[in-house]
Amino acid sequence: MGSNHIQLIDQYDRHLNYLRISVTDRCNLRCLYCIPPDGIAKLGHGDILTYEEILRLARIAVNLGVDKIRLTGGEPLVRKGIYEFIPRLTALPGLKEVSLTTNGIYLRDNLEKLRSAGIKRINVSLDTLHREKYEKITGYDGFQQVWDGIRLARKLKFQPIKINVVVIKGINDDEILDFARLTLHEPYHIRFIEYMPIGVANKENILRHVPDSLIKKQVSSLGTLVHISKNTLDGPAERFRFQGAPGEIGFISALSNHFCATCNRLRLTPTGNLRSCLLFDQEIDLKDPMRTGASDNELAQIFLNAAFTKPHSHYLASENSILPSGHMSAIGG
Ligand code: SAM
Repeated sequence: MGSNHIQLIDQYDRHLNYLRISVTDRCNLRCLYCIPPDGIAKLGHGDILTYEEILRLARIAVNLGVDKIRLTGGEPLVRKGIYEFIPRLTALPGLKEVSLTTNGIYLRDNLEKLRSAGIKRINVSLDTLHREKYEKITGYDGFQQVWDGIRLARKLKFQPIKINVVVIKGINDDEILDFARLTLHEPYHIRFIEYMPIGVANKENILRHVPDSLIKKQVSSLGTLVHISKNTLDGPAERFRFQGAPGEIGFISALSNHFCATCNRLRLTPTGNLRSCLLFDQEIDLKDPMRTGASDNELAQIFLNAAFTKPHSHYLASENSILPSGHMSAIGG
C-alpha cells in the first residue's frame, strides 16, 4: 500500500490524524462513575485483538495519515505483554507520537520501561488528592501509589505529565482549586474534564455534571489565566496558564462547549471496532474482515468508510438526545 497518498479526511473536511487504541476492556479500578456496581461482563481472550492485529491496523492507519496514537483502555497497563508491545508500536515509521492514558496504579514501578519503550507523554487519571476519597471513588486504596508515580514521572522528565480530573458535583468539585494550585509550582498539566453521560453516567447521574464555565470561574479566582495557543498534535483542551506558572490548566468540555468541529479522532475498541465518535453509537468492524483474510487495502477502505461516516457532531446537548449505550471502559475514554 502506498504511504500517505490517501488521507483520512471526513465529509466535513476534518483530517483524522489521531487514533485512540483501547488495548483492553479490563481495569484494576472500579470508578463509581465508570463501571457499574455489578461490573461489566469481561470479554474473552479470543474476542479482543491480538497485539499483532493491533500493530497491523496501526500501520494501516499511519499509512492513511494518522501520526498520533494514544493507548487507553480499560487500564492499558494491566494487559499482559504491554511493555513488549509498546516499543513495536512506537517504532512504526511515520508515527510522531505515542502516548498513554493510565490510572497510574502501575506507573511508579514501570516508568523506566515506558520511557525506554518510547513513551514521553502520559496522562494520569486522578480525581482527588485525598486518600480516603480516592478509595471511595475507585474502590481501591491506591492514592499514594498513583501520586508516587506522578512524582517519579516528573523526576524522570516525562513531559508533559497531564493529570485528568473528571469533575463531578458533590464528589470532587470542592477540589478544583487544589488541583489548579498544583500548576503554580510544578509543570503539571491539569485537565478538568466535564462528566459525560456515558455508561454509568446515565440520565440521573448526569445531574452531577459541572459545566465548564463554572469550573473556569472557580479557577480564575486564583489569578489571571493566560490563553495558550494550540499546535497540531494538541487535543481538544482549551489551554491556559497562570502568569509565570510552570504548569498548565486545560478545560475539556464535551457537552457545554463541544469541540466536534475540530475533532480529529478515531477510536479502535478492544474488539476491533472502529468508532468515529465517542458519544455516538456507530462502530464498524475490522476484526472479522481481518480474521477472514481481508487485505491491507481492504482494511484501509474500512478506515476510510469510518472516516466518511463520522458524524458532524454528537447530539447530547439537544433535549431528546439518545445516550450512547457503551461503557467507557470498553470503548476507551
Ligand atoms: N484506565 C485508564 C485511565 O484511568 O485513565 C484509561 C481508561 S479511562 C476509561 C479514561 C478516562 O475516561 C479517565 O480519565 C476517566 O476518568 C474518564 N471517564 C470515564 N467515565 C467518564 C465519564 N462519564 N465522563 C468523563 N470522563 C470519564
